[in-house]
Amino acid sequence: VRAYVKQCVKRNGLLTLSVLGVGTGCLLGYMLRGLEMSSQAKIYFSFPGELLMRMLKMLILPLITSSLMSGLSSMESKACCRIGVLTVTYYLWTTFIAVVVGIVLVLIIKPGCGTEVESNRLGGPVMTSADALLDLVRNMIPSNLIEATFQQYQTDLIPLVRAQVGSTKQPSFVYLMPDEENPKGHSVLLELTPSPDIHYKSVPGSSPQMNVLGIVIFSATMGLLLGRMGERGMPLVNVCQCINECVMKIINAAVWYFPFGIIFLVAGKILDMEDPSTLGRKLGWYTVTVLGGLFVHGLVLLPFFYFLLTRKNPFTYIRGLLQAMVIALATSSSSATLPITMKCLLENCRVDRQIARFVLPVGATINMDGTALYEAVAAIFIAQVNEYELDFGQLVTISITATAASIGAAGIPQAGLVTMVIVLTSVGLPPDDITLIVAIDWILDRFRTMINVLGDALAAGIIAHLCRKDFPTGTGRKASELPRN
Ligand code: ASP
Repeated sequence: VRAYVKQCVKRNGLLTLSVLGVGTGCLLGYMLRGLEMSSQAKIYFSFPGELLMRMLKMLILPLITSSLMSGLSSMESKACCRIGVLTVTYYLWTTFIAVVVGIVLVLIIKPGCGTEVESNRLGGPVMTSADALLDLVRNMIPSNLIEATFQQYQTDLIPLVRAQVGSTKQPSFVYLMPDEENPKGHSVLLELTPSPDIHYKSVPGSSPQMNVLGIVIFSATMGLLLGRMGERGMPLVNVCQCINECVMKIINAAVWYFPFGIIFLVAGKILDMEDPSTLGRKLGWYTVTVLGGLFVHGLVLLPFFYFLLTRKNPFTYIRGLLQAMVIALATSSSSATLPITMKCLLENCRVDRQIARFVLPVGATINMDGTALYEAVAAIFIAQVNEYELDFGQLVTISITATAASIGAAGIPQAGLVTMVIVLTSVGLPPDDITLIVAIDWILDRFRTMINVLGDALAAGIIAHLCRKDFPTGTGRKASELPRN
């Protein structure tokens, strides 16, 4: 009993500290906004937050590779197939449902109707849906594994969002950056090819783009093959298991730094944000629509599916995930949150280790319900602002491309904003109009990341339940430690 009480205090203590960290960060950020700090001072101030992000990102690569390789190597082929098919089917289904929820809400609320927000066309579309699909498939097969782990393009433009949007063969880049003439606005700079004049330089805090999808596919294949090699594969499997254990130990120690780091991560972001009172009524309704959709999907539909498929209380399960959701809120990155999601699933939700090791990394890469919902709402909002009537066929196109675009989005901050170009161009909307929503995106990104993380974690619980016959004691834990709920 004493051990249980100690465990409870430890678990909830950390969660309370993290929530306090978010609150303190908001307060501190608002209080310091009046000081008009220089950008250098902001970098110094946000440094503890930057360290938190770096710690989480440092763990992604060893966690994904060791989890998938050791997890899949010990599964039987039949069980692997079953889990793989169930996982992908469930992910596609819930993503599509999220898109439908978003479309229904945005059509009912009509946040973009009226004349208050001006469309802001700057140029033509740069990327077609076919290009995007080809790129997704290209990313599954990285031509250079080493490069896939640290693809990094950095410029001295200090962009809000910078990403490659064209096909890999003919890359183009989108930069969203503050508009010098209009300090409250943003402009989109579309470069059709990487300009030789761009001077690449390291920008503190900018995020490296790891090709997580390629790494997941490679590690899963290695894991499956190692399992078939029997004794000969064991040394590598043991190495992966050791790495996995070490990573989990590092996570256990690092989480105690997080509440402190969160304060500065959140405060630093608030120092940078625009004055919310300038956003206008339409963006206000747009925000309500996205948040309403995320709420319905994350706290009504997904828990309902969980209950339907497992007959267990979804909210007991979600309680165990709160720590991961706070980190998702603070970091806006489901990949960076992955180590904490893994910890929550194994320690609080008691999900089978092998299932969690497969379902979570795959989910953090391809399952983004929040992003899909947001992309559908944003595209229809932009159509409404442009007074562009969408017919049923175009709504179907939006639902399909939003699902595909969310699968292609990386689990990093504001990746969804960039892949939205695919959705917009698929129905002939101007991609530059993402400038209409960029001011509010950073905050919506935090909430959609929470739902992305929640979706992956609930999926792991459901798959573990559905495949429990394949893994009666797969965790290697004592019977008393096996899943309680
Ligand atoms: N930030 C989101 C995530 O990491 C992706 C996005 O929607 O921009 O899950």
